[in-house]
Amino acid sequence: MGNQIICPACKSRHIKHLGPVPTTNIFAGQSLPELIPGGSLFNCHECELRFKFPQIQPAELKTLYSLTGLDHWQSDSSARAEWGVARDWILATPIKFDLLDVGCFDGRFFSTLPPAFKFSGVEINPQAAEQARQKGIEIIGTDFQAIEGLPSDAFDVVTAFDVVEHITDPAGFLKQAVRVVRPGGLIIISTGNALSLPLRLLGSRHYFVVNAEHVSFISPQWCKRLAGEIGVTLIAERRFSHAIFNNIYLRIKQIALNIMYRFFLPFFVGLRRQGLSDKNVNLHPELALLPPNWMTAKDHFIVKFQKQ
Ligand SMILES: [Zn+2]
Repeated sequence: MGNQIICPACKSRHIKHLGPVPTTNIFAGQSLPELIPGGSLFNCHECELRFKFPQIQPAELKTLYSLTGLDHWQSDSSARAEWGVARDWILATPIKFDLLDVGCFDGRFFSTLPPAFKFSGVEINPQAAEQARQKGIEIIGTDFQAIEGLPSDAFDVVTAFDVVEHITDPAGFLKQAVRVVRPGGLIIISTGNALSLPLRLLGSRHYFVVNAEHVSFISPQWCKRLAGEIGVTLIAERRFSHAIFNNIYLRIKQIALNIMYRFFLPFFVGLRRQGLSDKNVNLHPELALLPPNWMTAKDHFIVKFQKQ
């Protein structure tokens, strides 16, 4: 299967179908009145990217992003374990003046750093970008493609937290990030780990894959392989969870629900149809197939590359 489908990143036809992605009505954390078909998840044997196809078209994505308010991403903010890691990495490097954060939102990551640096950001949400400006951050573009128009060797550090899963060609984006960083500078990215145990267990049905705005899925292994090809050294990697509350009871509950969903789907769907769920499955029966949340798992990673 998949002979007619090509890898959106490397254009290879050597791809494998991994399974159907459930239909959702959630976009960027908000419920939409209409349903968004999930398509399928594929793996490219050539570049090892996992990707969804068909994907939401860029124009439609832009409309959906503009519908999202300022508050919904903020629920994440207290739980950004990876910001502490990135801050330590940046402070430990000798060259660190010109910093660029792609997807900087209202500048809250930069707020964790000493104010002596020069801060630049890229942000798609106009309200968030305005708040970032008020904090002294120079907004140099509205989406990740803005990086293509920047001069080479212009920054000491480029960060992109939870960005590459939104991009059709993560390797192309990383090449651009490497280009705009000076030799010896850092590129720091974080995203979901396509090869973590939860994502391997649930495959195309994992909640991180089902998120409508997520189209590409990479792993630390993918980063190691790519590093050699794009002139960077992968010097550090950490795994983390995005959960705001992460106690043992919540962890056990989410593991149990996901195992039930994975191995006893008809039973799980039956419970939902009995009304034991926050999903409105009477209006949209397809939503009964949505996976439960599994935020407490350490299914995300952050890596630090250094340009040679
Ligand atoms: Zn590929």
